[in-house]
Amino acid sequence: MRHIAIVGSGPAGYYTAEAAIKQWGDQVHIDVFDRLPVPFGLIRTGVAPDHQSIKGVSKRYEATAGTDNVRFVGNVTIGKDVTIAELQDLYDAVILATGAPNDRPLGLPGEQLANVFGSAAFVGWYNGHPMFADLDPALSHDTAVIIGNGNVALDVARILAKAQSEFHGSDIVSHALSALDGSRIRRIVILGRRGPHQIAMTPKELGELAHLTRARPQVDPADLPDAALDEALDPGLRKSVNHLRAFAAATGGADTDDAIDIEFDFFAAPRAIIGEDRVEEIEVERTRLEDGKAVGTGETYRIPAGLVVACIGYQTSRIPDVPFDDRNGRFANEDGRIAPGLYCVGWARRGPTGTIGTNRPDGFSIIEKIAEDMPEPAGKPGRAGFEALAQARAIDYVKFTDWKKIEQAEIANARDGSPREKFVAVDRMIEAAGKDIS
Ligand SMILES: Cc1cc2nc3c(=O)[nH]c(=O)nc-3n(C[C@H](O)[C@H](O)[C@H](O)COP(=O)(O)OP(=O)(O)OC[C@H]3O[C@@H](n4cnc5c(N)ncnc54)[C@H](O)[C@@H]3O)c2cc1C
Repeated sequence: MRHIAIVGSGPAGYYTAEAAIKQWGDQVHIDVFDRLPVPFGLIRTGVAPDHQSIKGVSKRYEATAGTDNVRFVGNVTIGKDVTIAELQDLYDAVILATGAPNDRPLGLPGEQLANVFGSAAFVGWYNGHPMFADLDPALSHDTAVIIGNGNVALDVARILAKAQSEFHGSDIVSHALSALDGSRIRRIVILGRRGPHQIAMTPKELGELAHLTRARPQVDPADLPDAALDEALDPGLRKSVNHLRAFAAATGGADTDDAIDIEFDFFAAPRAIIGEDRVEEIEVERTRLEDGKAVGTGETYRIPAGLVVACIGYQTSRIPDVPFDDRNGRFANEDGRIAPGLYCVGWARRGPTGTIGTNRPDGFSIIEKIAEDMPEPAGKPGRAGFEALAQARAIDYVKFTDWKKIEQAEIANARDGSPREKFVAVDRMIEAAGKDIS
């Protein structure tokens, strides 16, 4: 029997488990560890709560998790409760699929001011990640600034702009829904250092803004390149730019008293966040493009704002004794190989890029490499060894059947029209699993 430990139960973790079963059939046992008592990583805590059809991909991971070869070992943090060296003693291969859960710092003066957040924290707040459930952002100022020109920036803008009725069918957590109900935000500025042709926003997400009851997306026509230049763009990007052109022509958006302006401020690089204790203004420098790069022009201006959310990317969390690539904020690796018997996949391998599906070929390719590196299992103890360690250390881990109890309780607690009300505290999850929280 071959024994594999996968650390992280997000898309990369479960696609890798699926690939291992394809490769070795019933000759492999896979333990999928997660620091949370609940599986599926960013499918649960990143993907927007009003995009339930995308979250549906977890059904596929459930099919993998439900096979006899695969076990979920939740509420166990690798690097803290169990070391990497211990896992390596027990399993033929250890695969880190821990994602990139930390916000990349902005590196600007004032970023420590209150009500300045990274998107991991802000999204975690409205999506019920236990680490960020208590964030309590103030939504009392009329202007919010979002930094970044990717889909996460659009998710944040959309969540801030939606009317309460538009959350019907979503699983946004109740604490966020009620905070948004009292929100005074009427203007959302999305800052991008470069221009409309350089965005990383997909057409579906951009198009959605035009259909919100309160949102008035706006683009300065002067920021748009000559329309003839759109011909050279990839079809997806061209569609996105078409949406921006429609916003510039003001053909989309709401016309109500409680309208929320969503202004795309292109060629705009944040330089400082200003305020006494809490953010009051953000200083921005106008840029121009030189060889595809944003270069400051020296012209600055300030935007009064009470909330700043930086959606500029993520970093992997370090794990003691695992080599780290500081420059790229992920584990140091060569095509997923870190050291003999130690591998990484998904965002922990390549950084925070691509879609959910991008993690699938990643998982399959790492299993091919393991098969190449270790044609035969080494006779390690695997699960039985982990059971002994868990008993000795009194680690009462959460099994997949326990998670199903948590899930049932979340479904039972759902408000009308919502698929579930997530538990946002680890203790409550453990309790719902019928375990002792002491
Ligand atoms: C806000 C946001 C919205 C997104 N929306 C979409 C979308 O709509 N469509 C789309 O295609 N993609 C979307 N993505 C991208 C998608 O979520 C990622 O491609 C994918 O989740 C990466 O998978 P992963 O398994 O590498 O990491 P993750 O999903 O982050 O999973 C990592 C897992 O590792 C666990 N872990 C971390 N450290 C440890 C440790 N030390 N010990 C044990 N466990 C640990 C974590 O708890 C987590 O469960 C979105 C991403 C974000 C941030």
